[in-house]
Amino acid sequence: MAEPLRLMCILAHPDDETLGFGATLAKYAAEGVETYLITATRGERGWHRDPSDNPGMDALGQIREKELRTAAECLNIGDICLLDYIDGDLDQADPPEAIARIAAYVRQVRPQVVLTFAPDGAYGHPDHIAISQFTSAALVAAADTSFPIPHPPHRVSKLYYHIVTQELVDVYLSVFDDIVMMVDGVERRAVIWPDWAVTTRIDGSDYAEDVMKAVKCHQTQIPADDGFLARLSENAVALCRMQHYMRVYSLVNGGREPEDDLFAGIT
Ligand SMILES: [Zn+2]
Repeated sequence: MAEPLRLMCILAHPDDETLGFGATLAKYAAEGVETYLITATRGERGWHRDPSDNPGMDALGQIREKELRTAAECLNIGDICLLDYIDGDLDQADPPEAIARIAAYVRQVRPQVVLTFAPDGAYGHPDHIAISQFTSAALVAAADTSFPIPHPPHRVSKLYYHIVTQELVDVYLSVFDDIVMMVDGVERRAVIWPDWAVTTRIDGSDYAEDVMKAVKCHQTQIPADDGFLARLSENAVALCRMQHYMRVYSLVNGGREPEDDLFAGIT
């Protein structure tokens, strides 16, 4: 019997799975692919409501873990592995330890396809950059017979980066005020990839409702006082249609032919 198809997302924060990758995860789950998620932090620093109501990092981490788990149910994610790093500090994690923990889960699950952020972290977010780097290294470690971690070695067949294109940013900017963060006194914004860099376009527009349900699970992340949810709802189909990926490596296919399936070439 053929191995079941398995897809794993390796990300930094609760809500990364919904906003960036939700339609892809929901689509593949609906098609019978087993889906898995690593979330490196509990998002303890992400408070988007009245600052005077912030319950503190520990409590917020617990709340956001619950939000993540209910959102994952909306997207039919099979299992979540939380790595317990602190939001905002992921780039200070000990690399051998982080890589070994990711690689152990990869060996345990044995996905054929892995998704993560591009090395620019979508908009320069240091946690996103860190998880992208750790993911690449962990896939090497998972396949390395000499790497001392549990479970037999496993080679992931394909790795993809989620990449940001101009059309995606245009839609995002009609939903969010801006996509910007300050790091070390420098403003970081979305890094826009040219259309030709997209190797793989996944149309997840049929799953926009599931993604909206998942967004609503992340209550702590929803601004209370404006029309955010209404704007997002209006644009959800467009966002879910534009799941754009760059194939980073593939053991099973290649070339310039555009893909519409992350499992292309896997038999
Ligand atoms: Zn994030």
